[in-house]
Amino acid sequence: MKILAATSNAHKIDEIKGILDGQPFEPVSLSDMEMEIEPVEEGEDSYEDNAAKKALYYSSVTGLPSVADDTGLEIDALSGKPGPLSARFIDPSYGYNQRNEAVLALLSGVPDSRRTARFICVVAVAFRGELLAVFRGELEGRISRVSSGAFGFGYDPIFYLPSYGCSLADIGFSEKNKISHRALALAQAIPVLRKLPVS
Ligand code: IMP
Repeated sequence: MKILAATSNAHKIDEIKGILDGQPFEPVSLSDMEMEIEPVEEGEDSYEDNAAKKALYYSSVTGLPSVADDTGLEIDALSGKPGPLSARFIDPSYGYNQRNEAVLALLSGVPDSRRTARFICVVAVAFRGELLAVFRGELEGRISRVSSGAFGFGYDPIFYLPSYGCSLADIGFSEKNKISHRALALAQAIPVLRKLPVS
């Protein structure tokens, strides 16, 4: 059964494929679809609304069961920012490295004990114009003082995992896919996907 990983972010697509590996689905991406698909604007204030909007839109355009995620980083010392606005918090034209350096600069002088943060990932599943389910996964950590690691993407290099003693970009693709916010949210979606009435 084909399932649309409804995102144009190549890193997210790879992770979704990795997390769903071994399941009886064939995750496909928007670029695998032989059709022009206009992107959908995010712009909602909540992860749930953003994920649901994307899943509903892409499933109605493609006819495929669709899984969409909306992710954000919540930094306690910034009162939970950037949160659902994570993609637009720092100038989106900046690369990941520049954005991460900007976040580290905002937290300069903040002691380790107040650098707590979490990734939130909300996954929505939609099919045939219906929103079937919405799930949330969370990963707790800390904003480190320096960027580190060659794996992952986005804010991973500045997200320190106390239980590993390194960043989320240090632990590698398969380890991230076992513990991440995205893995925890998608794991809950698997039973819903397995029950879909398609072959
Ligand atoms: P969105 O869910 O695509 O809107 O992502 C919001 C922001 O969070 C973007 O800047 C992404 O690069 C970043 N992001 C999304 N998922 C992850 C992740 O798993 N690790 C690190 N950064 C992420």
